[in-house]
Amino acid sequence: MAGKLKNCPECGKLFADMGTRICRDCLEKEEELMVKVSSFVRDHPHSTIKDIVDGVEGVKERLVRRMIKEGRFQQDGMDITYPCEKCGKPIHRGRFCSKCDEALKKDVLKAQKNAVARAVQAVQEKRPMGTGFRSKSMSEKK
Ligand SMILES: [Zn+2]
Ligand SMILES: [Zn+2]
Repeated sequence: MAGKLKNCPECGKLFADMGTRICRDCLEKEEELMVKVSSFVRDHPHSTIKDIVDGVEGVKERLVRRMIKEGRFQQDGMDITYPCEKCGKPIHRGRFCSKCDEALKKDVLKAQKNAVARAVQAVQEKRPMGTGFRSKSMSEKK
């Protein structure tokens, strides 16, 4: 079964994507790095992302962040944090701390409500409750 051909985002090489996102070479390299990062973190349980990037040769911050977001260190019982994308509070997973997450959810709800309100308004504006609407539409019918 052949995968879809695409360029590896890491090295730019063309490869058949079997759902691995990156090419085999890079995947192997990445897995090696992840093992290194995991053992580094085991030795330094309270590392920051910077400590890891500095301490593990060849590792990129992006990879460490992804590992954290995937909860890899949590499974190992590690206490690695990184800043919330909104307020900078140290968090363990996801993009935002629970507070910002709540606030964002509320924002989304509000936006949805506004969208609904706008849609209702638009419908009402299209159908004015005035005289003539009914008779006009009737007379337009052939
Ligand atoms: Zn590659
Ligand atoms: Zn936050």
